[in-house]
Amino acid sequence: MKVLVTRKIPEKGLKLLQEKYTVEINPHDRSMTREEIMEAVKDKDALLTMLSDPITSDVIAAAPNLKVITNYAVGYNNIDVKAASGRGIMVCNTPGVLTEATADLAWALLMAVSRRIVESDKYVREDKFVGWAPMLHLGGDFYGQTLGIIGMGRIGTSVARRGALGFKMKVLYTANSPKTDAEKEFGAKKVSLEELLKESDYVSINCPLTPDTRYMIGPKELRMMKPTAYLINTARGPVVQESALVDALKKRVIAGAGLDVFEDEPALAPGLAELDNAVVTAHIGSATTRTRDRMSEMNAEDIISALEGRRPVNLVNPEVVR
Ligand code: NAP
Repeated sequence: MKVLVTRKIPEKGLKLLQEKYTVEINPHDRSMTREEIMEAVKDKDALLTMLSDPITSDVIAAAPNLKVITNYAVGYNNIDVKAASGRGIMVCNTPGVLTEATADLAWALLMAVSRRIVESDKYVREDKFVGWAPMLHLGGDFYGQTLGIIGMGRIGTSVARRGALGFKMKVLYTANSPKTDAEKEFGAKKVSLEELLKESDYVSINCPLTPDTRYMIGPKELRMMKPTAYLINTARGPVVQESALVDALKKRVIAGAGLDVFEDEPALAPGLAELDNAVVTAHIGSATTRTRDRMSEMNAEDIISALEGRRPVNLVNPEVVR
């Protein structure tokens, strides 16, 4: 059996695959182009993809032997799951293992932007710091403030728990269905998106990118937020209309933003890079050594299960398995 891995991942997962199959790994330190994937996938039984690989219906059509696609991410908006299901191809992801690492990163961004860490670091390094000053780099409080979670799933709940238990924050949330465990554990309250935006001092986006959530936060929603509030996005860039966010940050419609993901990744919207009230990171939510090792194993284990006729643990389209 033949497997294509579209970008070098940690050895742990690769070894599991190499023990059993002929594995072709992208030799370059960059993403494969769509054309390269389409060519390489032609004779493959399994495909291990990155969140940056668009696995569209024509990529799937180019792979007549394909039985399983495992995505090295929990979000799988890059894969045409309907097209895969139509061919009976299993699609798998890496839920759970990256929850705490991503929640930590959301908090790192929240703290960094609110307490102006990056701006202050730059100021000190540029030799502008001439001594303590009463008005220097004043930021926002988070202890005891209100935290709004858009998408109270695995990661959203972990972000909320840190706020509620560590910083005595009041938690508001949105989700498709009520989250009674979080309501019981730390008093989270389900509200409308409008109420969440109006009441929160910090808004953390933790929903998946779907047709419903694309551009969920645009100019109107940003104007609903408090001028002292901060927006944190560790979900997917296109949930936020980035040009509207840049405009809102420039005009201080909101106080700041912490972003790990971008609408047109890896490009930033014009003007974003120049803003002191935005902290940006390079889509590193799950980027800890232990998490990435385990993600590689999960993807490999699911490929092995699928190719050996067992049901993969992290199957997102169970309709293909009868
Ligand atoms: P999850 O457990 O499936 O949680 C997603 C939550 O979003 C669910 O609670 C869901 O509600 C809610 N939701 C769905 N549509 C919504 C809508 N229209 N409005 C409000 N809430 C909505 O997923 P997760 O593991 O927490 O991951 C969340 C996302 O984070 C992933 O899809 C991925 O895109 C992103 N992510 C990014 C990084 C990074 O590196 N920055 C790392 C990991 C994940 P219900 O439960 O009621 O359906």
